[in-house]
Amino acid sequence: MTVAHDLQPEEKKQAIVVPGPFDIERIRADFPTLHEKVHGDKTVVYLDNAATSQKPRIVIDTLNHYYTHDNSNVHRGVHSLSQRATFAYERARGKVKNFLGAESEKEIIFTRGTTEAINIVAQSYGRTFLREGDEILISEMEHHANIVPWQMVRNQTGAKLRVIPMNDRGELLMEDFYKLLTKRTKIVSFVHVSNALGTINPAKEIIDAAHGVGAVVLVDGAQAVPHTRVDVRELDADFYTFSAHKVLGPTGIGALYGKRDLLERTPPWQGGGDMIDRVTFEETTYNDLPHKFEAGTPHIAGAIGLGAAIDYMHRIGFENVEQQEANLLLYGTERLSEIEGLRIYGTAADKAGVLSFNVDGIHPHDLGSIMDMEGIATRVGHHCAQPVMQHFGIPATCRASLAFYNNTEDMDLFVQALYKAIRMLK
Ligand code: PLP
Repeated sequence: MTVAHDLQPEEKKQAIVVPGPFDIERIRADFPTLHEKVHGDKTVVYLDNAATSQKPRIVIDTLNHYYTHDNSNVHRGVHSLSQRATFAYERARGKVKNFLGAESEKEIIFTRGTTEAINIVAQSYGRTFLREGDEILISEMEHHANIVPWQMVRNQTGAKLRVIPMNDRGELLMEDFYKLLTKRTKIVSFVHVSNALGTINPAKEIIDAAHGVGAVVLVDGAQAVPHTRVDVRELDADFYTFSAHKVLGPTGIGALYGKRDLLERTPPWQGGGDMIDRVTFEETTYNDLPHKFEAGTPHIAGAIGLGAAIDYMHRIGFENVEQQEANLLLYGTERLSEIEGLRIYGTAADKAGVLSFNVDGIHPHDLGSIMDMEGIATRVGHHCAQPVMQHFGIPATCRASLAFYNNTEDMDLFVQALYKAIRMLK
């Protein structure tokens, strides 16, 4: 049973804010970590947004409010706190539904994040419906989270895993995609925006073509939803997933969207409390969607925090997000292109705010460590996309990834620190 419950105080504050012009300094003031000092007096310049985003105060306050005032378990309690927790948790599901443009809350399953969501689809839908000789199609630029679960289900079912190659700009070779797509293709699973290269893939075209051969499509939206408005119905995606922590929300929570009829036909992944209707030792019947896929106590605070993050994104507005990031990407690309011996990996025509690069003769880990001494947070490594590194014949890159709360000064400080690191290491 759920009862109506007033907006939480933080949400009231948020609800009365009318979206105004994009005021970067006011926005930055909302993010406490952007003002943290490291190595003594160096203010953090946070350019590791593809790994995880920073959190605005409203998200932190919402978590605090939940644990201070409403903490209880969901769905099972008749007492007031449980009803409040249930109301807030289910309201967050409604926010995710609207955020993704889904038709119904029943199509939104809370997960631990993108990784868990892909594993759910692979193990529940994939393992149930794939047969020997069927094919799963992924791309060369996938995050490991969208490779390994498919290898596992391939080994379990005898299906084959095929890979759409990319060119040296980091764009999918669509001609090869069309050649690989056949009646044997049962699942196409691809990354909407690449975390290692920034490439924005032609999602609608891929989905429509996959549907043309009767395949089911999963889109890994982990790097898409922080930067652009996503509408799963416009895309006609069968499954779409993202992680809250990359879009201003808490870690350990994310969502899987699935078309209702597909989810109805798919057996649950994990068994336990909440996902059942009736249990006897002989047999169990399952709960309705979406609870069928949410066994055990969920990350209640996380879901509510994600709801606050979504509200914040709406207040900023995706037009503003896209504009700010496009400006910074252009500026950053120009500044990096001036540096002798620097190569940018990922130069697709359609690209999000990721600058992955190496400098001749210098190991990216050394660059990253020296830049950190200046307060610059970048990421060095294979970015959980080792096949991308293999494509370019490199072990790692240094990656600066942008968010709408970054500004030109961040880019200047980053480039200045990069010059300093190069001077020290050459
Ligand atoms: N897919 C992409 C494109 C990612 O960038 C990431 C994280 O970096 C993931 C999947 C995995 O996300 P998570 O670790 O939140 O499950």
